[in-house]
Amino acid sequence: MTPATWLGVAGWPVAHSRSPDIQHAALRAAGLHDWRYVRLGLPPHLFAETVRALPRRGFRGINVTIPHKEAALALATEATGTARAVGAANTLTFTQGGTVHADNTDVRGLLDVLPPAAGRTALVLGAGGAGRAAAYALRTAGAEVFVWNRTPERAEQLAAELGVGLAFGRQRADIVVNCTSVGLTGGAGAFKELPVGADSVGAGSCVVDMAYRAGGTPLLHAARGWGAATVDGLEVLVAQGAASFERWTGRSADRQAMRKAVDLFS
Ligand code: NAP
Repeated sequence: MTPATWLGVAGWPVAHSRSPDIQHAALRAAGLHDWRYVRLGLPPHLFAETVRALPRRGFRGINVTIPHKEAALALATEATGTARAVGAANTLTFTQGGTVHADNTDVRGLLDVLPPAAGRTALVLGAGGAGRAAAYALRTAGAEVFVWNRTPERAEQLAAELGVGLAFGRQRADIVVNCTSVGLTGGAGAFKELPVGADSVGAGSCVVDMAYRAGGTPLLHAARGWGAATVDGLEVLVAQGAASFERWTGRSADRQAMRKAVDLFS
């Protein structure tokens, strides 16, 4: 029997991740039946040491999620220009020669699903790995970008490094991207900590929630009520996951199979 080739997603927490569903769908569609994709629940103090040991255990690569994306870039021996510019990586690829290669496919994933952004204003909520990717993607797409974060010092650092503006509270924006982990858990008031509401978002705006959950997040439900267009984080998940899959396997990813695996229909 051929030994399995392993892939996975490392995070803390990681139980909520739908990456195994979309990656298994892509592996099946590509006929890669001896490949496996698993959740790796790694607390921050074990992240670097565990990741460095994965290639010896048959791992070809991993996705990296909350809160390890900056640490993933730090431990890589090679990185794409995008990962370096963003300052965070969501995809690590291990080569036979011992290289750990870092990429940030969240940027490509977001660019695939964002509405046209050139000349529009964009508000990024959150300054972690996803916030950095969103600010970079929106700036690349030609938007005027402002970033807000619960801990202001992190927003200030992101704004200085990526050359975007700071938001100090609610402000009108054509595109809002929630990159905080608020919304992973439910409840109607679940996003009350975020500076966004009917007075700042409405018809003509688009709200993207990077956080995702079955049935949609409370923020997306509210945004539809305010008249805004919405993009589900699962669409970003599929787009970034397809780019990661293609890097690891050298095959093209069957995006329709991946979308179906997380109940997105078109
Ligand atoms: P991260 O680096 O750990 O950053 C977490 C962010 O959430 C920080 O800005 C943090 O603010 C903020 N935050 C946490 N709790 C908060 C609260 N109660 N109120 C306000 N802000 C709060 O994580 P990440 O990798 O950027 O991921 C962020 C979210 O995006 C997660 O839900 C993740 O699953 C999702 N995501 C989805 C996709 C996708 O493909 N759909 C891709 C990437 C990420 P502080 O700095 O103040 O702690």
